[in-house]
Amino acid sequence: STIIRMEDISRHYEMGEELVRALDGIDLCFEKGEYSAIMGPSGSGKSTLMNIMGCLDTPSRGRYELNGQNVEEMDDDELARVRNREIGFVFQTFNLLPRMNCLQNVELPLIYAGIDTRHRKERAIAALERVGLADRMHHKPTELSGGQIQRVAIARALINTPSIILADEPTGNLDTATSNDIMQIFEELWKAGNTIILITHEEDIAQCTRRTIRLRDGRVESDIKRST
Ligand code: ADP
Ligand code: ADP
Repeated sequence: STIIRMEDISRHYEMGEELVRALDGIDLCFEKGEYSAIMGPSGSGKSTLMNIMGCLDTPSRGRYELNGQNVEEMDDDELARVRNREIGFVFQTFNLLPRMNCLQNVELPLIYAGIDTRHRKERAIAALERVGLADRMHHKPTELSGGQIQRVAIARALINTPSIILADEPTGNLDTATSNDIMQIFEELWKAGNTIILITHEEDIAQCTRRTIRLRDGRVESDIKRST
């Protein structure tokens, strides 16, 4: 089934007299279980596209359906709910709360979702187990390596069993060996049925996925699927 359907999506910014066309007529669909990379030079619209897919921003024009729901008809509260329930975000800079331990960081989306304490803890531990970090649950982010922190961030992204995982340069701050570990986790998550879209400017990272979409000047320049 189709998770993301974008039809003629544009996002323009007015900068004084000038109109910046960050996205200019994007038609893209993502099916459940796809594993995709979005590439393109700096300024080509990757972040803008990610923000729209993640309901952090809304298009200036066009139609965006997430899991059959028409996003442009939603108010801010509905968007926040959809974001929390349907999207698991992973960022280059991790975005964990430094004063909270791993368990508390991973539990956060469940607090917003109104899940009770006991179930929160059970699910957070299960998510940390999936990324191989259950033995670090009482550590704070400052006590972990970059790769371990990113694994906590992935556990947090998974906790609400989102329809889609959106990762913006998830290996951007990691060395090669640690990047490979993180890509191994994404591969396992994909094989377990998750839908994953990541932004990257590294060919090696994009080659780990099964589909590469290249943006240029706010448009889709190419869109190539691979079987292996
Ligand atoms: P990428 O992630 O590929 O580097 P972006 O989506 O960040 O590209 O940006 C695409 C274009 O839109 C760039 O020209 C950028 O300067 C512009 N842009 C992005 N966000 C804003 C904004 N909030 N206000 C004005 N221009 C923006
Ligand atoms: P990335 O490294 O992911 O491409 P950028 O440095 O292009 O990120 O942009 C970081 C953030 O700043 C994005 O959320 C983008 O929307 C915003 N942004 C990019 N260009 C501009 C701009 N010209 N004016 C205002 N905000 C911008």
